[in-house]
Amino acid sequence: MSLIRISEILDRIRPLPVRTVALQAPEGLKRELAAVADALRDEGYLVVISGDPCYGACDPALETLAYADILVHLGHTPIQDDDRILFEPVVLDLPLPPLDSVLQLITTDTIGLISTAQHAAALPRLADELQKHGIAAVISDPSPRTPLPGQVLGCTYAAARCAGADELLYFGSGVFHPIGAGIATGRRVVTLDPFTGDAGIVEADRLLRKRFGVIEKARLADRFGIIVSTKSGQNRMRLAEELMNHHPRADVILLREVTPDQLLNLGYPCYVNTACPRLALDDQIRFPVPVLSPAEFEILCGIRDWEAYEIDEIVA
Ligand code: SF4
Repeated sequence: MSLIRISEILDRIRPLPVRTVALQAPEGLKRELAAVADALRDEGYLVVISGDPCYGACDPALETLAYADILVHLGHTPIQDDDRILFEPVVLDLPLPPLDSVLQLITTDTIGLISTAQHAAALPRLADELQKHGIAAVISDPSPRTPLPGQVLGCTYAAARCAGADELLYFGSGVFHPIGAGIATGRRVVTLDPFTGDAGIVEADRLLRKRFGVIEKARLADRFGIIVSTKSGQNRMRLAEELMNHHPRADVILLREVTPDQLLNLGYPCYVNTACPRLALDDQIRFPVPVLSPAEFEILCGIRDWEAYEIDEIVA
């Protein structure tokens, strides 16, 4: 069954003065693009598809849009306003899993609920169920990069800072977001997987120990490449310029895709990442040399204490 609501896309495009439509999807949805293209062509539109890698709304296919009147970006909620881009997120509306196991892990009367765009629509239902068990749930308002209540991204944990909650419950799969939320807020984070119903408690210490090791390894470097992304929603040139001031041998390097091969070819003994924050934290194992976050570089340069470690976030 397709995750893409093609009729909804058509409904949004029909009122617009549009002849050519550009389509873009993240890797997991790319194979749905042909069916969307068929539906658009059946209604008389010309279609051009972006085949480049896409990992988030931070990277709208502006080069492809140059050949079209509008870009339909599938799979993500918007992180920037642009009238020429229609964001069509994938929203799953699954029944809630049983709460027995997660209830045993919650140790507070008031908990903050967070999730990714896929599952954020279920948070009010989850809050109602928790209420029946005497647990009040807080769901934060949207932020500029996360337009859904309670939504977090790998680069933005604003929703995890909800007032009045002693703990967080992450409703989603994977550990990256809940670990990030735990580091960003210092709060205990319980997880509930919407698909399996598995519950757990995230362990941020392991990641922090690893990052401490990466910083120590980076101390051997005599030169630093400050990576700046050319993707419109990841570009933090101003931050890179500030970081450059911390070390006499630091160069700004503009990159579109940050790959192990590119870092190897550039030949720096250490990089500082101002592109997608997930790169340094999630992908270090793929990289040939240490890749530090901005805060980690500040620790290395002695202008921030380890105790003041911060997870990297992109503030809109
Ligand atoms: S910067 Fe990274 S985490 Fe943020 S939206 Fe883009 S790909 Fe996702």
